[in-house]
Amino acid sequence: MTNLSAVTSDYRRIGRTTLDVWTHYLSEPSANGGASPLLPHATAMWTEAGEHSALCLAQMKLENDFARTGIIIQPEDGNPLSLRPWIEDPRAVRTGDVIDWKTRKRVRTLKVPPYAVGAVIASDGGMFLRFDDPAMCVREWRRRIADDPGYKHGVYLPAKSLRDFLNIYAPPGDTHPVTGLPNENTKYYEVVTTMLERFAAMEADDTSPDPQPDPQEGNDMPTYRTVIPGLPGGPLETSFPVKLMIVPAWRTNNRPGIKARTPRLSVQHETANSGTYAAAEANYLYNGAGGRQASWHFTVDDREGYVTIPVDEVAWQAGDGSGPGNYNGVACELAVHRDIVNNPTRRAQSQKNAAELMGKVGARLNATPPARQHANFMNKNCPAQMRNRGESNRYVDWWHHFYQMEKAAMDGKPAPEQPVFYIGDTIKALVPLNLRQRAGTGNVPVIATLPVGTQAVINGPFEWKDGYGWLPVETSYGNGFVAMGENGVLWIEKVKDRPAPQPEPEPEPEPEPQYVPARPIPALLETDLKKYDTAEGITTDDLGQDFIFVADVIEFTKDTVAAQFAVKNPKPVKAPYHAGDRAIAAWLVKSQDTDSWWYVLAGGDDEWVRVPYANTKRVSDAPLLPGQEWGESEEADVSDVINALKDVLDDSAQ
Ligand SMILES: [Zn+2]
Repeated sequence: MTNLSAVTSDYRRIGRTTLDVWTHYLSEPSANGGASPLLPHATAMWTEAGEHSALCLAQMKLENDFARTGIIIQPEDGNPLSLRPWIEDPRAVRTGDVIDWKTRKRVRTLKVPPYAVGAVIASDGGMFLRFDDPAMCVREWRRRIADDPGYKHGVYLPAKSLRDFLNIYAPPGDTHPVTGLPNENTKYYEVVTTMLERFAAMEADDTSPDPQPDPQEGNDMPTYRTVIPGLPGGPLETSFPVKLMIVPAWRTNNRPGIKARTPRLSVQHETANSGTYAAAEANYLYNGAGGRQASWHFTVDDREGYVTIPVDEVAWQAGDGSGPGNYNGVACELAVHRDIVNNPTRRAQSQKNAAELMGKVGARLNATPPARQHANFMNKNCPAQMRNRGESNRYVDWWHHFYQMEKAAMDGKPAPEQPVFYIGDTIKALVPLNLRQRAGTGNVPVIATLPVGTQAVINGPFEWKDGYGWLPVETSYGNGFVAMGENGVLWIEKVKDRPAPQPEPEPEPEPEPQYVPARPIPALLETDLKKYDTAEGITTDDLGQDFIFVADVIEFTKDTVAAQFAVKNPKPVKAPYHAGDRAIAAWLVKSQDTDSWWYVLAGGDDEWVRVPYANTKRVSDAPLLPGQEWGESEEADVSDVINALKDVLDDSAQ
């Protein structure tokens, strides 16, 4: 479906429109005549345009009204997109005739791409390609705008939005080949976006009785399809874009053109260059790798991949001369830009992308599992980041997953369920299985050969060694390591899941602080303060108010605003207390003309405030706190008691 949001973000993702939209626009008459001469080619052209079929149709409308307005380019030139030859094109290997636009007679020859047949030349020397079939023109257009980043030395690589792209495709200062108008007068961008909007509207109005579900609907992961040179089985679907930047065949130092040997091996590298992403590495190779005799098939980072050598050809990457690394390998360089490596998410994504491409390609090439590393072919720590960080196993797991997925897709089957083994799972041997002292086959002693059906419990993490995945297990023959399988075939099967993890035990409830029942204060207030006083007894302050030192824990029975310590016109302070809050009260003041109040420590701070006695109940009568002794001095008593009460409050706080 036409993706209008990509117009401003990435013109390469504007996407497909339907074949119905194509046939509608090619059959609809216009001011320039009836149905387009392209109509009989609609299906072939639409197929060639692939995921760019919306942009392709929109551009053809602008270029010459679907081949209806040609002056220099005639419909029989098969060039409805007005493509010009690129004289330095490394793919221009076919000699074609250049004809005069007026006489249509041959004037000379020119090297053109293999699916073009020649060119047509105007009196000013400007040339346009000719094709036997407009579908071949679409193929060349697609190569230029999206598939071949090396086209004109990467002229479109910097372009993101449709506007960026069109400024390169049809520069404002240039003259339009068909209308003869300056490009800025053609409102190229406006015409193309208007067309795209119409396509999207038409797709939305589609009320055909049997709409086919879009296979990608509901799938958050976009699918990219790439025809990879040398790869059997048609376009490869990947979750990230894979672009072609095929090293020209004449660069024999990098691309010797030797057919790879079978069985194929999947070889993973890292660039060891902390300053480059995949595009720069692929571009470096495309341009000859600085004269080094070096090459590799793929370059991948966390966002995209590049193909530089056809996968059925030898690339110089493994450092083992004519050994299996170079001659049997299909090789991928993983970019390790510091911004990727230092970000665990990006690093994992980049490794996963490499594993996806290599696993899927490995399946297509029938490569022998497991995934190999450069280090398997020579004494070199490559891929170093993956190896040093202990992330090789993760890569191998991903590789295997994608390998299986692609194999299943090739067989027309749904992707197999990937068994996942956890520590604690019980497994069973499906074949006689060597139980070894450690992971590995080399000099590792065999403890026993487990008969088919032997059960074992996984008791540690997976390890990768000597080309096999190993699980540490407990068996009745002893503890050791078993290999999981080979070539995508498992030698073990899970028979019982690990015991369900024990739920966290409920924490023991904190014991309620053991408060001593408080003695009634009303009576105390009214009658016999002295009797229950724990300190100095009733004191009369300067204003003639009586108060006692009680050092009690009180609880608020209703929401309460505390007031300043000042006795005269106290103002509210801080947050109110809520019903249920507790506080330490040091003094109870018996007022003579208003309600009695407590002096309490506000919010646990060392700030005294007053609260109405009537809004509280006493929780604890401080003098009866266990083990509490009162000193001689009131000053000392206050701090001792307050601290003791704070402890009580802290303990009871939830
Ligand atoms: Zn390497």
